[in-house]
Formats: sequence, C-alpha cells, structure tokens
Amino acid sequence: MNRKRIKKIWVDQKVEKATLTRRLLDKLPGVPVEMVASLEPVKREFRFSPDPVGESKQHLFITEQKSFIRPCPCTPGSVGCGYWTIDLDLNCPFDCSYCILQQYLNWQPLTVNVNREKLREELESFFQRQPGGIIRLGTGELADSLALDELTENSIFLVEAFRGQDRFWLELKSKSDHIRSLLEIKLADNVVLSWSLNPERIIATEEKGTAGLEERLQTAARAVNHGYRVGFHFDPILHYPGWRADYERLVVEIFKVIPVEAITWVSLGSLRFPSALLPVARRRFPESRMYEQEFIRSAEGKYRYPRPVRLLLYRELGEMLAAYRAEDKIYLCMESVEVWREFLEKIKRGRRNFAFPFPWQG
Ligand code: SF4
Repeated sequence: MNRKRIKKIWVDQKVEKATLTRRLLDKLPGVPVEMVASLEPVKREFRFSPDPVGESKQHLFITEQKSFIRPCPCTPGSVGCGYWTIDLDLNCPFDCSYCILQQYLNWQPLTVNVNREKLREELESFFQRQPGGIIRLGTGELADSLALDELTENSIFLVEAFRGQDRFWLELKSKSDHIRSLLEIKLADNVVLSWSLNPERIIATEEKGTAGLEERLQTAARAVNHGYRVGFHFDPILHYPGWRADYERLVVEIFKVIPVEAITWVSLGSLRFPSALLPVARRRFPESRMYEQEFIRSAEGKYRYPRPVRLLLYRELGEMLAAYRAEDKIYLCMESVEVWREFLEKIKRGRRNFAFPFPWQG
C-alpha cells in the first residue's frame, strides 16, 4: 500500500514493546505516532470529519486481539460452506463502493493485531480439535488478506503456521498484487491464493485503489508459476447493461494466463448488502449506479437481486467457465437451498458436471 496514505499511527499501550510493533513503526518512518489506552481516542479523531469511513482507512491502529478464529457467519437460510475466518487485520486501505465493511466495522481504523503468537496457539488447538475432512480458513472476511502484507508480512507467518497441516487449507484472498513475500518462501501445498474478480470497467469505477484486472491476473499467474494453488471469486457479480459481454471477456482473460488445473475453486456470489449500508455507500459514492435498481429484501434483511436475475447471472457465468472445463470448481456463495437446487437442475439439463456440494470435498 501507499505509505503516504497513512496519516497517523496509533499504538495501543498494551503492545508498545512488542517486536512486531517496533518493526511496523520502523517501516513507516516520518508518520506521526501516538500511544493510546483504547480505540476510542482514535475514532474520536475523525468522527466529525465529512468522511469518517475514508478517514478510518488512513489511520493505522496497532493493537492485540483477544480471539482470532471464528466460523464464518454466512447468511441465515443460506447453504454454508464450512469456512472459518481468522480476524488478523481489520479494515482495508482499498475503497470498494459495495464493501460491507464501510458499515460493519463502524469506523474501525486499519488495524494490525500484533499478538500473532496467540493466534499460533489458537490454530494449534483448532487443528487438534476439528473432526475429519478438509477445513478452509482465511483472513479475507474483515480485511483484504494481502493489502497490508508488505507492511505486516502476515502471509509468511500464516503459511508457516499452516505448514504440514494437510487437512486445513489457508486461503489468502485479495484484490492486490502483493505476493512478494509469498514468492520468497518455501511453498506449502495447503495454501490457496485467491483473487476477487470483476470486469475492468467495474474495477475502475467501483473498486478504488485495488490492482487492475491485468495486474491481478498476472499476479495470479506468477503465483501459479511458483507452484501455488489459486482460487477466484466472482463476488459481487453485478447486473448492469452490458454485464454479459464484460464477464465473458473477463473469463477469456483468466484462461489466457491461468491453466484450469491450477484453479482450486471459483465462487459465484451476486451483489447483496444490508439496508444499513445503503445511506453510507450512496453518500460516499454518489456517482455509482450500482444501488439504483430493483432488489428484493430477503428474510435475513439483506437486499439482493430478484431470484431470476441471480439465477441468470450464475447460469451464464457457469456456462462461460464450463467452456474452459472449470465447472467442477464452482460453488455458490451465500445462496439459498432453492437457488442451489435451481442452478444445479438447469445445469443438469445441460449435462454439465457442476461441483456439489463443494469442490474441495470431492
Ligand atoms: S478489497 Fe475487499 S475489504 Fe477492501 S474495500 Fe474492497 S471489498 Fe472491502
């Protein structure tokens, strides 16, 4: 990330002497630093600014986390994929107009938790406790997994913590090209580097600060050349005039540089958001037309495209990916049993062998 964008560093007194705190401060010379006893003074600094969310992305809070691992909450009524999240960093320097963290994190600054040894202990106990089968864990729920990696080098720590734990797959999900550290260490076969993808015009207008499509795909190709497994997330898929041609081009671009055999999973998830995000996103991104169309409110209170639109998006994307023999990698993210069933039935009629329930269970 661009260090000039960090206006101030706030250090929680509890971690003032931690080795990682000192290392982070050394990497950000010249940025003002203040010690604090809690998060409150940090939020107070920008709560009356015209854009507290934007400000929160320019303040770095170094602190510790009480507990790191929790099951992904998914969405009530959806088919869960058994994912576990690791809350290592919180918030993200990028600025996507649809990002739920704008509302969910309540102005939490960019937060780096430096008590990684506690995470290592939690992981070791987690590895012992979980029953059989492949279990996926990742840091990409409340942050972009690699956005701050050049600063934190969390990826190196995590890969080492997962090394040899074959049943537990670590996913590092990103919209960045920050894989330098990952290319310098010994490969681990249970690590999947994944990228969220959208057509270039969506990246340019709705995903500010992220790597462009070409950069993401070239980075993924470098990861594959190094031997990593990769994954892709079409999430959120957006429905707008011209979407079909845009996504078709995107799929073509992927397979120009990534062999299908290197892909471990591809998720499809259409735009969804809680109602509380709407006023925040409309105020911060008045030029975005993303929210100005028809949505239905589902039982759990989230807005989504009507079911026929979602099915159309999934079916079309599914066919585009199947043209490259990637159909057995696909799963739907946060979708209802009904949508899964309809998606699979439509596909069955077309005699495609789509993954069910999930590709990593096969
Ligand atoms: S990259 Fe992910 S976490 Fe960061 S702003 Fe975009 S959606 Fe949010």
